[in-house]
Amino acid sequence: SIRTRFAPSPTGYLHVGGARTALFSWLYARKHGGKFILRIEDTDLERSSQESVNAILEGMTWLGLEYDEGPFYQTHRFDRYKEVIQQLLAQGDAYYCYCSREELEVLREQQMANKEKPRYNGKCRHGVENPQGERVVRFKNPEQGEVIIDDLVKGRIVVANKELDDLIIARSDGTPTYNLTVVVDDMDMGVTHVIRGDDHVNNTPRQINILKALGAQLPVYAHVPMILGSDGARLSKRHGAVSVMQYRNDGYLPEALLNYLVRLGWSHGDQELFSLEEMVALFELEKVNVSASTFNTEKLIWLNHQYIMSSDPAHVARHLAWHMGERGIDPTSGPALADVVKAQRERCKTLVDMAAESEYFYKEFNAYEEKAAKKNFKAGVDDILQHLLVQFSAIGEWEASGLHQVVLDSAEQLQLNLGKVAQPLRVAVCGSGVSPAIDLTLALLGREKTLHRIERAIS
Ligand code: GLU
Repeated sequence: SIRTRFAPSPTGYLHVGGARTALFSWLYARKHGGKFILRIEDTDLERSSQESVNAILEGMTWLGLEYDEGPFYQTHRFDRYKEVIQQLLAQGDAYYCYCSREELEVLREQQMANKEKPRYNGKCRHGVENPQGERVVRFKNPEQGEVIIDDLVKGRIVVANKELDDLIIARSDGTPTYNLTVVVDDMDMGVTHVIRGDDHVNNTPRQINILKALGAQLPVYAHVPMILGSDGARLSKRHGAVSVMQYRNDGYLPEALLNYLVRLGWSHGDQELFSLEEMVALFELEKVNVSASTFNTEKLIWLNHQYIMSSDPAHVARHLAWHMGERGIDPTSGPALADVVKAQRERCKTLVDMAAESEYFYKEFNAYEEKAAKKNFKAGVDDILQHLLVQFSAIGEWEASGLHQVVLDSAEQLQLNLGKVAQPLRVAVCGSGVSPAIDLTLALLGREKTLHRIERAIS
């Protein structure tokens, strides 16, 4: 059965590009009833950190990309890597190399001067007479033939073995290198489909040769193109948010981000919105674009708004609650969040906007928005507010239609158009000139807060 994996190096946050690769691996496993494995590639002790591991796990959890096995940590598997290195040495597929750094540097310079591709010349490949000094282990790459990769995204890739030199698989301190650990893990974990960024495509023929030497079943490869920023350079911090958790902080729903990422370089007709179930059913690696895709924040915002509007309000409310918490607001001190979601969702494209524009339901504000106050609190406004206060105080059941009637009747009694009544009222109770429909706003706000705020606004 199908087994895929996501193998991040914990050297930072979970990048959206990584999240997209993880999503593709996850979808592929789900679609085929297989298993999705999480493997933390933490052998670079200097660059890896627990903090980054936590950030990756947090990102995966927030996105809902649950893994069936793992997380496995490469640092727990050093004994196994040593064993495989010994095996390769014993069977003659690897050898000790004693060439010094200086020697290799001279070789490199000569090759550069001759306009040759810098590569190891195989000096130690057939044995060394007087072994001295530090030694590394190199893989004995085949000298003849070629490696053929039928990449699910890129199509057929053919690399001649004479293009590949003998790769270091163990450093002089005995620690294994990236290409060795990946191969051992993919083999031991029974990975059938390696889905990863195409920055690794040059490693693949080398990894295949090592797998062959170990007699392993070869996985299928799918190299996914990079994500670019609007200027065509690889997506990075200077283009804006790149960390998955930053998207949470900026008010996106995880489903919207997943939907955005699956559509980035993949399409199914002109369908834009895909539920997770539809993604699982429809996604095909074979249809992922070969060329890189450009990240488009506008489109992501549009999708986010679609999800905010069409998702179950209770679900949106759970995410909104987190943002309220970030703002120091207690969501139990006002209307049910799901009702606020229903009132605000047409207007708010992100949950950050929704949280900011819903504060007044929960928390007293200390100042009116300057422009709105200037425009609406003009001479005579106290009379309007006083009138409304009396009418609202007399109202029986506090609900939208009755409140609406009061505003209508008051406008008529005061011989003002509706806006001249509703706008000052809105500024009085919300602190600003924008909110959902005034009756709905008042209904959500409740009797006590409404009356108190109207009183307070009367100078
Ligand atoms: N750890 C590698 C990276 O984060 C990925 C290796 C792989 O997927 O084979 O780039």
